[in-house]
Amino acid sequence: MEADILVIGGGISGLTAAIEAAETGYNVVLVEKNPYLGGRVVQLTRYFPKICPPYCGMEILLKRLQNCKNLKYITMAEVKSVSGSAGNFTVKVEKKPRFVTDACTACGECVEVCPVEIPNPFNFGMDKCKAIYLPHEMAFPQIYVIDGEACDKCGQCVSACKYNAIDLNMKSEEITINAKAIIVATGWNPYDKSKLTNLLPDHPNVITNMMMERLASPNGPTKGKIVRPSDGKEPKTIAFVQCAGSRDEKHLPFCSAICCLATMKHALYVREQIPDAKVYVFYIDIRAYGRYEDFFAKVSSDENIQFIKGKVAKIEDAGNGNLIVHAEDTSTGKKVSMEVEMVVLATGMQPSTAVQKIEGLEYDDYGFVIEKEGIIPCGVARKPADVASSNQDATGAVLKAIQIVRR
Ligand SMILES: Cc1cc2nc3c(=O)[nH]c(=O)nc-3n(C[C@H](O)[C@H](O)[C@H](O)COP(=O)(O)OP(=O)(O)OC[C@H]3O[C@@H](n4cnc5c(N)ncnc54)[C@H](O)[C@@H]3O)c2cc1C
Repeated sequence: MEADILVIGGGISGLTAAIEAAETGYNVVLVEKNPYLGGRVVQLTRYFPKICPPYCGMEILLKRLQNCKNLKYITMAEVKSVSGSAGNFTVKVEKKPRFVTDACTACGECVEVCPVEIPNPFNFGMDKCKAIYLPHEMAFPQIYVIDGEACDKCGQCVSACKYNAIDLNMKSEEITINAKAIIVATGWNPYDKSKLTNLLPDHPNVITNMMMERLASPNGPTKGKIVRPSDGKEPKTIAFVQCAGSRDEKHLPFCSAICCLATMKHALYVREQIPDAKVYVFYIDIRAYGRYEDFFAKVSSDENIQFIKGKVAKIEDAGNGNLIVHAEDTSTGKKVSMEVEMVVLATGMQPSTAVQKIEGLEYDDYGFVIEKEGIIPCGVARKPADVASSNQDATGAVLKAIQIVRR
């Protein structure tokens, strides 16, 4: 396969880069390891600061993508290595089997007969789905996928599919792509909460900020109702723990730049749904840079949202499903021990390349990708960023890639 520009990662940054490059006339290949495009953004309920659904913007991007005849996208394909130099790169990609072909109409009859249930990966395991599933209701492409490890190959889905769209014999394949320039948009993963042992990470009512996004989402595990996982009760007191693992030498030493804003958004989700709920935000510093200061001013004017300046030292199980949050309020110098019904850990964005390296790329100490001639990182692959900054970064990356292609 040949490309002027190869884009690794089909999140908002990679989609933006691929579409901008293709609309300028270059041949583009976009490679995404998930069974769908959109990356983390499609898991969000709404965007700060406008609190609008991310799918509005995403639909426009996907429409543009479909109009680009010179843009080819491949899902379930993970880039493993890059070699060569600017103008002549060789990229090795592992394409995993979907077990479902393009003939799928997403009718869902296969799901009815599938006997195997798995934790739903899109909802961080907060509910279950079948081993054959549509990744999420707005998934692009609208094609089912089979979890090859969980599937017992009973063949019931094959018999139920009227369109002969299921092929249980599909195998992994290796694809080689030759490209003149590469844009790396591999994004991030939520920092692993199980490492935050002082914050009771295994308690069902201690969730992460990304789990909160799924909980509040109309297509989430509770159809958008914010309830605590242990007993389905509507929480009246919720504590948010900022910098959970961030700005901490033992975990992620850097600031993810968006967690304070994400928590403010979550506080609004809670207050909108549960008007008498009290929200407590434990923070070290509030980082609402630039024009986001207005958003902070709006959220902090709500008398039911209290900001407490203090790093949470420990969370304990109160024994009744509740949690006890221990912190020092640095503005009063007093120790605070507060019982709440649910805790949300504002875990940071760890570059996905910190854990799964692509051979042949260069990284900084945290795992973010470093630019070198012809290999241009953008979005959260390069540094922590919100969506607007990621999009600008992706557009800039395209200009650098074009300069290499035209040389
Ligand atoms: C709790 C929370 C709430 C947030 N809310 C907002 C908000 O309201 N507004 C806002 O502006 N920002 C928000 N953000 C930030 C936003 O999620 C990021 O800015 C955005 O996801 C960055 O997009 P990206 O494309 O760079 O990365 P990603 O969304 O992570 O996309 C990267 C893609 O690359 C793919 N990939 C990775 N490695 C490979 C590989 N080797 N081969 C092929 N594909 C690969 C991944 O599967 C993924 O699809 C929030 C973040 C968090 C943590």
